[in-house]
Amino acid sequence: MPDIQRVGVIGAGLMGSGIVEAAARSGFDVVVREVDESTCARGMGRIEKSMGRAVDRGKLDAGKRDAALGRIRMTTTLNDLSDRDIVIEAAVENMEIKKEVFAELDRIVPTSALLVTNSSSLSCTELGAVTSRPDKVAGLHFFNPVPVMKLVEIVRGIQTSDETMATLRTFSEQMGKTVVVAKDTPGFIVNALLVPYLVDAVRMLENGIATREDIDTAIHLGLAHPMGPLTLLDFVGLDTTLYIADIMYEEYKDPKFAAPPLLRRMVAAGMMGRKSGRGFYDYSSGS
Ligand code: NAD
Repeated sequence: MPDIQRVGVIGAGLMGSGIVEAAARSGFDVVVREVDESTCARGMGRIEKSMGRAVDRGKLDAGKRDAALGRIRMTTTLNDLSDRDIVIEAAVENMEIKKEVFAELDRIVPTSALLVTNSSSLSCTELGAVTSRPDKVAGLHFFNPVPVMKLVEIVRGIQTSDETMATLRTFSEQMGKTVVVAKDTPGFIVNALLVPYLVDAVRMLENGIATREDIDTAIHLGLAHPMGPLTLLDFVGLDTTLYIADIMYEEYKDPKFAAPPLLRRMVAAGMMGRKSGRGFYDYSSGS
């Protein structure tokens, strides 16, 4: 089984920066490609801030933080990933952009290297098809915030080999993650179960069955979830949830994935949740 030491990451946004941090803290050498200098700086700033918080909370030793930061290199040049053993793509959720990235990476990285996507909803089989190594392409779906969340879903494309699956399991475990394996289907395990639940909560509110507070309190206290579905929707982002629900509905045509009009209207109105300051609850005062 190939040994992974040199990691490449595409994108240093919310997820990419988390993946970079988790990989560097686990001892991997990481090169990160972003589109320009300002996104590189923003990504590095996010990583430094997150590691700083871990140090402040006593979760990370300051010396280990400095060593981890020393293992990270930002670049705007894709060719700088030419010696990587694995490249984890965490660019925007757009199939055309991801296909371009995979086709370019396929020309650049060694033939033995694995190419994986962190996509929440797009098919790794389709991405594998634009490369000359579909057996070495898979999904590696992390959860936000990556350094904290223990789970990773390894997504097996139709052509992904057993060897690739085994290497990804070892690599994920070296990053301190617990692995679950899913077929390349919309939503994999977590979102396939979560999205119908979230859209049902919106439908319940829309139908006037209960108030937003009572829906959240019922799940929080009745099922001992850390938060209710509407609070969770505000965290995840209403736009992100709508996007995934639409993809799942498109694939299965199953009404359980159909986004209720209220969710669509709220997104149209710019009420995306915490990130926009307003969703089911109001965050404009910073609370
Ligand atoms: P984001 O918008 O925060 O970050 C995307 C980054 O990719 C941006 O910084 C952008 O500049 C960069 N980028 C775009 N094209 C690029 C290219 N060609 N080369 C290098 N960088 C490029 O998005 P995000 O929330 O981090 O999501 C990234 C991926 O992770 C998506 O596929 C998404 O489905 C998946 N994902 C997101 C979450 C989540 O909770 N947000 C969870 C799991 C998986």
